[in-house]
Amino acid sequence: MSVADPSLLVSTLVEFSEVLPVTVLKGVGPRQAERLARLAIHTLADLLFHLPSRYQDRTRVVPLAALQPGMEAVIQVEVCTAEIAPRGRRALLCRVQDDTGRLTLRFFHFSTAQQQFLSRPGTRLRCFGEVRAGPLTLEMVHPECRRYSEDDPPDAGEPYLTPVYPSTEGLPQYTLRALTEQVLQRLEEHPGALPELIPAEWLNRLGLPTLVDALRLLHRPSPEHGVAKLPAAHPTARQRLAFEELLAHQLSLHKLRQQVQRHQAPPLGGDDSLLKRFNESLPFTLTAAQQRVINETKADLTRSQPMLRLVQGNVGSGKTVVAAVAVLRTVQAGWQAAVMAPTELLAEQHFRTFKEWLEPLGLNVAWLSGRLKGKARETLLQRIGDGSLAVVVGTHALFQEGVEFSQLGLIVIDEQHRFGVHQRLALREKGQRAKHRPHQLIMTATPIPRTLAMSVYADLDTSVIDELPPGRHPVQTVVVPEQRRDEVIQRVWQACRQGRQAYWVCTLIDESDTLDYQAAADTAAQLTIALPELRIGLVHGRQKSAEKETVMAAFKAAKLDLLVATTVIEVGVDVPNASLMVIENAERLGLAQLHQLRGRIGRGSIASSCVLLYRSPLSAQARSRLAVLRQSNDGFEIARHDLALRGPGEVLGTRQTGALQLRVADWLRDEALLPQVRHTAARLLQEHPPLCEALIRRWIGQGERYGEV
Ligand code: ADP
Ligand code: MG
Repeated sequence: MSVADPSLLVSTLVEFSEVLPVTVLKGVGPRQAERLARLAIHTLADLLFHLPSRYQDRTRVVPLAALQPGMEAVIQVEVCTAEIAPRGRRALLCRVQDDTGRLTLRFFHFSTAQQQFLSRPGTRLRCFGEVRAGPLTLEMVHPECRRYSEDDPPDAGEPYLTPVYPSTEGLPQYTLRALTEQVLQRLEEHPGALPELIPAEWLNRLGLPTLVDALRLLHRPSPEHGVAKLPAAHPTARQRLAFEELLAHQLSLHKLRQQVQRHQAPPLGGDDSLLKRFNESLPFTLTAAQQRVINETKADLTRSQPMLRLVQGNVGSGKTVVAAVAVLRTVQAGWQAAVMAPTELLAEQHFRTFKEWLEPLGLNVAWLSGRLKGKARETLLQRIGDGSLAVVVGTHALFQEGVEFSQLGLIVIDEQHRFGVHQRLALREKGQRAKHRPHQLIMTATPIPRTLAMSVYADLDTSVIDELPPGRHPVQTVVVPEQRRDEVIQRVWQACRQGRQAYWVCTLIDESDTLDYQAAADTAAQLTIALPELRIGLVHGRQKSAEKETVMAAFKAAKLDLLVATTVIEVGVDVPNASLMVIENAERLGLAQLHQLRGRIGRGSIASSCVLLYRSPLSAQARSRLAVLRQSNDGFEIARHDLALRGPGEVLGTRQTGALQLRVADWLRDEALLPQVRHTAARLLQEHPPLCEALIRRWIGQGERYGEV
């Protein structure tokens, strides 16, 4: 269908699919509706957007001679003989033939009646099943079988390829097919029921079919399209849907951003005397990249709309100082700043850094953790509430109930991939009691490619620190099997003898603290025996904060040579003299985590190395993961591989929140569409605001995923 006046069509939206529940369909009662809901299918439109994962070809009969193992096919055969398998698991073997060859049908479950007709020589059968190699001939295991006689009218076969849908218990394929058939039928009768929301002439230019054509092609493809996996078959039909979904996503983030920016934020201008003193007190000169990003944030902060900026930068690129400058600017202008980190350890580290940097300038820095209880907590909350505390560093405890700032001007969120969009928004609310909304600075060491960042984080401006402080050497990474552990221990000895320090990181499959702790303690004990001359420390998640801090401080002060640790050090200490890291069971960790861990070394001017110890045999996936680390130190490159291996939901931390979950599109596969999506979104916003609203409603819903913003 074409769009004459798009705004008219939007009003017809109510007629059909996005609002009509599946229960209007024949055969769908409450039980069936509940099963469909498990597939996130609530409305007729949901059913249409639930695409087949693959297809079967039941349109024609395939001669036996043309069969290949792995194929799914319809065959038409005559029974020759049948027998119960002489060996192995009890099975009925039915030998069949056509004019071109022979085949065996294998049944593990069969009734006496079935056995009888399947054993009668000359019985004609039409079967559908998957072909596999058998001991004598090709086989089909438990094919769908139907008897037919010579007098039956010739079977024309199915007119379309048969879709196979992702399903759930209690929803067989024929049910899903029958339901989509009903909806497609309705669509045929009321073509306006699922309005086209992208102007026809734009679609033309993009080379994409209309929505209705695309859906028909995906649900009922004609045989000439061939039986391939979905992305390969009907690429433009699938892209048509992906395009629309990405468009809706882009528009919704745009709306989110607009909503935030409608609010007032405190313009944080003022004199720069504190900043000058801060710069002079720093033991290093800022890199050009740091300076550039600092200027970008400065420009944002002086505006009266909330800043929404994401700073991406490799591990060790020096993001913290960028945050510190923003914090200083905020406090200088008389507002409070909150700095949030994903773990206690990282929060503690930031707390120490900020104290060291800011207290000499006369600022109060406080630390709020979930562990803080009773009177101490009350006092702290009160000082946050009356504004006498300028800077508060903490974990997600910062956005819990009861924490109210009097004048929150800036929120810094570190390693934002660990937080969901919801949490980000919840913290945004914290400054709300005042008339103003706080500015937001978000930092991540999971740099994602620019085109992707512009779409996934379309509600944010992005800055990149694409330069490491001078004098850093890339970490040399080697992958070593567990059998060569002794050599690795010798390497630790060599490094420490030269006055360097080393980390030994223990990991387990199990995330449980107890076992993690046990592994680290055992390893520490072994290493103490193997390396009696070394001073060895141990940190793990079960230690009290103070205990952990003591060990870390000792390591930092070079009073320890070797630090055995669980992955708690992932985002932890900064010890430039540490030049070696051994990571045990490296194959069990994800790319991003390994990259983060490795980022603890290579921070000084000494050449550093990282040993990834693994237990054989390595799975193919683990092998390629470790190879990526061996070959690259570049966070962008690693993130790209991580995205490909684990998928964006995991990497971007959006899986739990669901906010960025896509139904049809895929961030990586459809990356090439993104520039066009952005372009189209911009035009649509300009020219057809009602269509924008309708697209967001269709794909994202009423905004419940984003919470109130
Ligand atoms: P990130 O958070 O980006 O991983 P950090 O902010 O923790 O990195 O900085 C890593 C280390 O580099 C810290 O010890 C920090 O003091 C130091 N550093 C930051 N900027 C510079 C610079 N311009 N020159 C030298 N060292 C720097
Ligand atoms: Mg950091």
